[in-house]
Amino acid sequence: MRRLLTAIGLISIAGVLPSGASGASEGTVHKVIGKSVQDRAITTWRQGDQRAEFRVLVVGSIHGDERQGMRVVSRIRQDLAGRSGPRAIGVWTIRTANPDGTVAGTRRNARRVDLNRNFPYRWDASLNGGYNSGPRPASEPETRAIMRLSGRVGFDLAVWYHQPWGRTLVPCNRDRRWALLYVRLSGLSAGGSCDRGYYPGSAISWQHHRFGTTAFVIEFGPGFQPRPMIARHAQAVIRLARRMHQS
Ligand SMILES: [Zn+2]
Repeated sequence: MRRLLTAIGLISIAGVLPSGASGASEGTVHKVIGKSVQDRAITTWRQGDQRAEFRVLVVGSIHGDERQGMRVVSRIRQDLAGRSGPRAIGVWTIRTANPDGTVAGTRRNARRVDLNRNFPYRWDASLNGGYNSGPRPASEPETRAIMRLSGRVGFDLAVWYHQPWGRTLVPCNRDRRWALLYVRLSGLSAGGSCDRGYYPGSAISWQHHRFGTTAFVIEFGPGFQPRPMIARHAQAVIRLARRMHQS
């Protein structure tokens, strides 16, 4: 009983701590949004301002052999720990949307499906090998977990990290201006005015088409990225969200 009361006390103390300039309350909410093929949890951390008028999703990895974005997620979580961050901005982070691939060090999930080709918008049955799109749209539990979360929260901005192309993939749609602002904030160039690549069944194209979410991909270069670069990207996401919300 004593332990229980202590736990309740800690929760209520956390709820009434002074919350900084914005006047909003802070606190991290962890939630398991789904399980992988091999029953590993896919977990979101919700941080930032509880009012969350503007909602941001950051996914560190969807290809299990592309790991540097997970460090950006860790840095964002650390930066927002115990504080509300910019006013009215809620931040949901996922370390990896592909926990089986992350453990195995493989691009695809445990059923050898490229999750970033498995989303239902412009799904392409003909893709195979490294880009295997799966037996049908949203066939994979990891894909469905992201879809449920996206439908429940309704993100304004979604940033997905990949490797190893070493550039920001600026979409040629109306999200272009915001991706270009991210380029300026992060210092990772677009390598062209916008990316005309066609990625059937990708997470960002589904989120953009289905919900109007501003969604784009950051491709770090190969291998380990310097720590200051990771920190700059973590700050760029939050600064971009603030600018978008103010506009
Ligand atoms: Zn990738």
